[in-house]
Amino acid sequence: MRRPSQEPPTQAEFDFLLNESVRVHGHLCAGQVLGVRMSMLGLWAIGISDPKDRDRKNLIVFVEMDRCATDAVQSVTGCSLGRRTMKFMDYGKMAATFVNLATNQAVRIIAREESRALAKEYFPEIGNKYQAQLEAYKIMSDDELFSVTEVRVKLQPEDMPGRPMRRVRCALCGEQVQDGRELSRDGMTLCRPCVENGYYEDIL
Ligand SMILES: [Zn+2]
Ligand SMILES: [Zn+2]
Repeated sequence: MRRPSQEPPTQAEFDFLLNESVRVHGHLCAGQVLGVRMSMLGLWAIGISDPKDRDRKNLIVFVEMDRCATDAVQSVTGCSLGRRTMKFMDYGKMAATFVNLATNQAVRIIAREESRALAKEYFPEIGNKYQAQLEAYKIMSDDELFSVTEVRVKLQPEDMPGRPMRRVRCALCGEQVQDGRELSRDGMTLCRPCVENGYYEDIL
């Protein structure tokens, strides 16, 4: 992986970001530590130093988990679903991809499975394995915690922040669908749940 020119984040920055993330998430947990460190590493790797201000329009994050760490990623990066700067991919993996839109650099970072067992070796005296993970994840090296891969991410215009580019009406249920999420079947424009079965069923 190419290393960016900027200095790696400091301990003080980590402490500050972890505090902030705990405040937003509601509790301190191993997921906060992991998510904060993953985000700091990801931003650094793509050369983004001021995600909430100067670099705000240049950053998109894909998260592959809806777990504690996801809140940490949101807290550190300032990216959110509502701003369309955070994309949720429901893969069930402890992984996220950080994309710099200005340079097209992107890295996918996944938490290493070995780090769980390693955490116990760092703190054998802590009986509770989650507590041991929480403490160990603060001090383990990035290489012990994460695998980092440079990737290419294709972002479509309809996935970018800004006003919806298109709104269409589903021919079956009549509801409006925006951002090109409609499907075409037998010449009809339909919404996804009408084609694929949605997560809900109407109670008749
Ligand atoms: Zn948590
Ligand atoms: Zn429909």
